[in-house]
Amino acid sequence: MAFDLTARLAERRAADLYRQRPLLESPQGPHVVVDGQPLLAFCNNDYLGLANHPEVIAAWCAGAEQWGVGGGASHLVIGHSTPHHALEQALAELTGRPRALLFSTGYMANLAAITALVGQGDSVLEDRLNHASLLDGGRLSGARFSRYRHNDPASLASRLDKAVGDALVVTDGVFSMDGDIADLPALAAVAKARGAWLMVDDAHGLGTLGAQGGGVVEQFGLGVDQVPVLIGTLGKACGTAGAFVAGSEELIETLVQFARPYIYTTSQPPALACATLKSLELLRRDTWRREHLAALIAQFRAGAQAIGLALMDSQTPIQPILIGDSARALELSRRLRERGVLVTAIRPPTVPAGSARLRVTLSAAHSQAQVQLLLNVLAECYPTLETADA
Ligand SMILES: *Cc1c(COP(=O)(O)O)cnc(C)c1O
Repeated sequence: MAFDLTARLAERRAADLYRQRPLLESPQGPHVVVDGQPLLAFCNNDYLGLANHPEVIAAWCAGAEQWGVGGGASHLVIGHSTPHHALEQALAELTGRPRALLFSTGYMANLAAITALVGQGDSVLEDRLNHASLLDGGRLSGARFSRYRHNDPASLASRLDKAVGDALVVTDGVFSMDGDIADLPALAAVAKARGAWLMVDDAHGLGTLGAQGGGVVEQFGLGVDQVPVLIGTLGKACGTAGAFVAGSEELIETLVQFARPYIYTTSQPPALACATLKSLELLRRDTWRREHLAALIAQFRAGAQAIGLALMDSQTPIQPILIGDSARALELSRRLRERGVLVTAIRPPTVPAGSARLRVTLSAAHSQAQVQLLLNVLAECYPTLETADA
């Protein structure tokens, strides 16, 4: 029978994979109100606490006064305004690239970069754990698609040896659901030795890694030679919205000419670019946010190990607690919520089957006392989780 949505939804529910959207009734931050309940949250990607920062808000308002609220047209027609242009220059400077090109979302930037660079007769090689938008871009491109073992340069090398046409290697910089950092120097060397290009999506590293917050390429000191295509997103550590591709003059011009997700869409509101410019300024200047975050990460890992939680090999603000079974992950999340703490369960297909987890994320907006409270609640709820299984 066609369109049996009732059956599809029932099946999803029966597998403990049904998704629901918690209703956020407050600004983003450590203290939120969700579905009427005040909670201490550890699950947004606002790693530096800039999403609700007064100076960023003021820049947004001043930007709206000066530039209005709508982009009004695509960049190629008459939607490319002075704040967009200034933001592109600031992003190129932050990442040490000749140029950057602004997009409305990271999902679009990824589709754009991959589909503009490879097509039929070419190859795209992706880490198994890449973000969905990278996998979707690879499929949409029509290039021969292959996935290599997670963060494994040897596995990449053996697949690259069989690649055809132009070969694009694509990886997350910081893996979004695990928190580990890609071994970029090794992946870049493998790609370069075979004439392939490396594209890195640094959605979670930008702002959190590197002395100035330039992300994973700053941390490893990698230039356009090693990472010709760099993606950053602005809705995470920058606290605003949008994304960019950074690289050579020729790369950016190629995207302007050929990238359909760039060409056929309205530019983001110029006031948003004004807000992001302010958040970039804070992000570069105030190194204390990254230092405080590093201290919270160390505190959480030490405390979690003492409780016996299964942490992953992550030195970033993404600190998932591996549970495995989706129902158990939901149960732990429910118990935390009963005690006033919000950490959402992440289940397949967002993560591989059998690897459901509580994706704890830490932010510079959190205090040490709040992280301790999270640890206390976990110590109370986690040990008895086993016995609660149906
Ligand atoms: C969040 C994310 C994206 C998507 O970025 P948006 O701007 O939210 O569309 C892309 N890649 C990775 C790795 C992400 O975590």
